[in-house]
Amino acid sequence: MATGKIGVTTENIFPVIKKFLYSDHEIFLRELVSNAVDATQKLRTLSSFGEFKGELGDLKVTVTVDKEKGTLTVSDHGIGMTADDIEKYINQIAFSGAEEFLEKYKDTANSIIGHFGLGFYSAFMVSDKVEISSLSYKDGAEPVRWTCDGSPEYTMEKGDRSTRGTDIILHIDEDSKEFLEQIRIDTLLKKYCRFLPVPVYSGETLINATEPQWMKKPSELTDEDYIKFYHELYPGQDDPLFWIHLNVDYPFTLTGILYFPKIKNNFEITKNRIQLYCNQVYVTDSVEGVVPEFMMLLQGVIDSPDIPLNVSRSYLQSDTAVKKISSYITKKVSSRLDELFKADRKNFEEKWPDIRIFIEYGMLTDEKFCEAAMKFVLLEDTNHKFFTLEEYKTLVEPSQTEKDGDIVYLYTTDPVGQYNYIKAANDKGYSVLLMDGQLDSHFVGLLENKLEKTRLVRVDSDVIDRLIRKDDGRTVDLTATQRNILTTLFQSSTPEVEKAMFMVQFEALAPTDMPIVITQNEYMRRMKDMAAMQPGMNFYGEMPDSYTLVVNTSAPLVEKVRDEATKALADRIKPLEETVDADNAKIESIRSAAKDGKLDTEAQKQTDELVAAVNKARAEQESIIKEYAATQPVVRQLIDLALLGNGLLRGKDLSDFIARSVSLIK
Ligand code: ADP
Repeated sequence: MATGKIGVTTENIFPVIKKFLYSDHEIFLRELVSNAVDATQKLRTLSSFGEFKGELGDLKVTVTVDKEKGTLTVSDHGIGMTADDIEKYINQIAFSGAEEFLEKYKDTANSIIGHFGLGFYSAFMVSDKVEISSLSYKDGAEPVRWTCDGSPEYTMEKGDRSTRGTDIILHIDEDSKEFLEQIRIDTLLKKYCRFLPVPVYSGETLINATEPQWMKKPSELTDEDYIKFYHELYPGQDDPLFWIHLNVDYPFTLTGILYFPKIKNNFEITKNRIQLYCNQVYVTDSVEGVVPEFMMLLQGVIDSPDIPLNVSRSYLQSDTAVKKISSYITKKVSSRLDELFKADRKNFEEKWPDIRIFIEYGMLTDEKFCEAAMKFVLLEDTNHKFFTLEEYKTLVEPSQTEKDGDIVYLYTTDPVGQYNYIKAANDKGYSVLLMDGQLDSHFVGLLENKLEKTRLVRVDSDVIDRLIRKDDGRTVDLTATQRNILTTLFQSSTPEVEKAMFMVQFEALAPTDMPIVITQNEYMRRMKDMAAMQPGMNFYGEMPDSYTLVVNTSAPLVEKVRDEATKALADRIKPLEETVDADNAKIESIRSAAKDGKLDTEAQKQTDELVAAVNKARAEQESIIKEYAATQPVVRQLIDLALLGNGLLRGKDLSDFIARSVSLIK
């Protein structure tokens, strides 16, 4: 029997391991089973090289718990260890056995080398004593037993194992009794070892599938295989929409299958995530940093020995190998989408509603993906037809180009609520895009950035002739008095609407257009929409919506209102306007005559009187027009119709409108 000290520099390596090396104690099982699997794979490799000539036998790995003895044992029939091996690989803690093996079998052994650094010592996270009982495959090897109680001292003696392989026996400590529960062990093995390449048994029960689909060649797999595998990974989900089989050897090794799920709710996204494996050993399902953020919406498996595992997330994100992996995956996903789009456009369009959020999110957050996606991102119009960006440009360029050369894309966020505007646009031969998705308010901005000389405007943000400005030679034909009368007439006939403000504006639209159209400024509305998504910008939300009440001066009904009002009011309004103009002129001349802009007492008195007279004349005008407005139900009726078209006519105003309509029909 030999005793000795484990070859580490510090005395307190074990407490360090226990506390800091792994935050998650349960991973000790992953480490030990991985070592057992590695030892088995090494034996297979040696056998295939003719360096091991004996019988391989049943190469399974077994995990057994003995609650009475308080032990958990991981057994394998791999290469085993001699006392020298243990001295070298276990006692010299910093010495990596993997390195030597790799050096020898460089080209083929890559995939069987463990990747977990201090793997074996993680056993001390849950044990107060660990034993190794091993018999090496080497000719004439002696069995060996190594024991260590968690201090740097160990003992090594002749063992009693009679068959090739290794038992790692953990004497589970007081705080870790949970690892003596069969159910807990089964669950852990299913989590970490489901796809290991050597059969793993929990007691009598086989845990794993030794040849998972992602390790196979795509040509060996049918669609059904992919779908079946998806359901194995995520039971109870709908069939996936598409999948991508990843397979690279250079400059890094990576395999995997990524699925586009049919997502029903957010809960599923957070629960069923991409799983990261390292040589078929499950590592984690938090892949932040390894894949770009938008790909978190995907599901499936990524397997790579080139991702450093036991390091912090922030390190991962700055690691160049990981960056390469991430950009490889992005490229792969975008080229696969492009391929799917080209191969079966109809299928792609059918699935568009489900993949749209993914593609838009990707375009918004990943420059490279955005570039690639410009080829296959689809725009949908209100007739549910789909277009690529290029197709859409070709479609609308002839009819929707403004006089200064900008192309205008019209869109709606609510095809039912904005129906009137969509119809007006369609009647003009314009197309309207559907932008009612969760991310579309951002996506609209992105398109505007990416597309040259192109503006996107919501279909209700102005009257149709001003949404897309063309030279049609129509001008507003009103005298100053008429403008004055009509402004007050329409403004005073507009009811108070909660959280809304209206400004009257005159436009000479087509005579066949509506007499009054209500629009909402695109810029103001986007500001409010954006503010609504940001916390702390609530005051924007509290502000009233400001609408423009566009009066179409070419509409026959408006012309009639204008003529009748002019006839009834012009004679009384004109003298008042003249008074206002004359008095204003006088004020102006007094002010300009004053030295240094300072009025003397006399001039000040005169100005005050004139200002009062102007205000009085204005008030008189207003009251005359308002009085007249009260006798003109048709003006109010026109306004109400426009409000109604926008869902802004409610409550008493609505019932008054109905009563007035009935009496107007009579
Ligand atoms: P790593 O696996 O990263 O090399 P470990 O601390 O887990 O680090 O293991 C150290 C070494 O001990 C391994 O490289 C291997 O040579 C040896 N070893 C561990 N477990 C076994 C086992 N079950 N059978 C044979 N050798 C083993």
